[in-house]
Amino acid sequence: MFPTFARGVHPPQLKTTAEMPVRRLGFAPELHIPLGQHIGAPAQCVVKVGQRLERGSLIAEGRSFVSASIHAPVTGTVRKIGWLATPQGQRIQGIVLASEPGAGQEHVPFRAPPDLNDPGQWVDAVARSGLVGLGGAAFPTHVKLKVPDGRNVDTVMINGAECEPYLTADHRAMLEWPDDIVSGSLLMKKVLGAERVVIGVEANKMDAVKALERASNNCVDIRVVQVKYPQGAEKMLIRALLRREVPAGGLPMDVGVVVANVQTAAMIARLVPKGLGLVERIVTVAGDAVEKPGNYLVPIGTPVGFLLQSAGVVPDCQRVILGGPMMGVSVADLQLPITKGTSGVLAFKTAQDHESGPCIRCGYCVQACPMSLNPAAIMRSARGGDLDGCVQYRLRDCFECGSCAFVCPSKIPLVQYFRQAKLDLRKQPVAV
Ligand code: SF4
Ligand code: SF4
Repeated sequence: MFPTFARGVHPPQLKTTAEMPVRRLGFAPELHIPLGQHIGAPAQCVVKVGQRLERGSLIAEGRSFVSASIHAPVTGTVRKIGWLATPQGQRIQGIVLASEPGAGQEHVPFRAPPDLNDPGQWVDAVARSGLVGLGGAAFPTHVKLKVPDGRNVDTVMINGAECEPYLTADHRAMLEWPDDIVSGSLLMKKVLGAERVVIGVEANKMDAVKALERASNNCVDIRVVQVKYPQGAEKMLIRALLRREVPAGGLPMDVGVVVANVQTAAMIARLVPKGLGLVERIVTVAGDAVEKPGNYLVPIGTPVGFLLQSAGVVPDCQRVILGGPMMGVSVADLQLPITKGTSGVLAFKTAQDHESGPCIRCGYCVQACPMSLNPAAIMRSARGGDLDGCVQYRLRDCFECGSCAFVCPSKIPLVQYFRQAKLDLRKQPVAV
């Protein structure tokens, strides 16, 4: 039996695109590029309206430690700098780039290649490349590579679990870019001074395990984990592979681990040594409203509507989700762009079922929660406006995996309550 974590759920996998090689998507006429598409401070725009840019040139600079730079995903002209909508219903500053007719795939370096033997220069190059966690979290990669004084990282863990139903972008990356994944992870190991690299892959991707084994030449440790959701969550993967527990409110680094997604590791090798910026990522497009499902290499900033049209979306599409069905967000505005954190776009012919019943105190949600929380109790506190109760029931440890809502027989939208309560908590005045 392969290792795993406690609790969790088994949603149907529906990974019908796993056999489909990655296809490159053409350029949309306009790309919409938000300046804050990562965790941390938004990047600062460094271009002007009317300016012509080559694909790969710097358009916004991450000037805070926790931020990420952004590069032009297409050769073209800056049409507008202003407010853009986000999937969360907010507005954020961004750049609209008009693609040049006939724009090519050439990708220009925005800086000289770094000296890979100089760790400081190398981490700086990762920061300037705009790399973030491509598994969906979009946490700036360079921040993970700077180990604070007094800390020690012994393990680089590369996350190839991809446990969300439908999504196969990481699976394809492991099949098509295994050498890059191994090279990128070894570069991380070197700069962190770690002892080993462990790559965790779910048991439904044994072809990817073989591809990585061939590429690794025994330099990295490739381990198979059970197929269970949310096995791809950092804390769950660390628990499964190392039997270490990341403390509540803590980070993997607290237990000597730095985790990176497989696409992130591949992009480190593909971009950083050449002085290139991140301009595209693999996105799974699937669902019963898509005629040409598959995995597409998509320029950052491509409108979701353009991607769906290219994938043959049917006219009676009723629902579009960015990400997977468990943790993704339903969106109505198809002008919203693909960002660095968009792992999938799912389109369905049926609308979401909003009918929910009362809590019958069955306890299924408690049995499912991988963080050992009591989701029903948090929900009751949230519904009653009792934010202190939410905190006592450890709302902050909830990472919104959706396992509780998946098993709830009353179809209570538990995660929606948790997200709203977290927003309300952030608005509370800070005690001094
Ligand atoms: S309470 Fe949070 S962490 Fe626990 S199952 Fe529900 S969404 Fe996941
Ligand atoms: S699974 Fe749903 S009905 Fe059962 S206790 Fe949890 S919230 Fe209540």
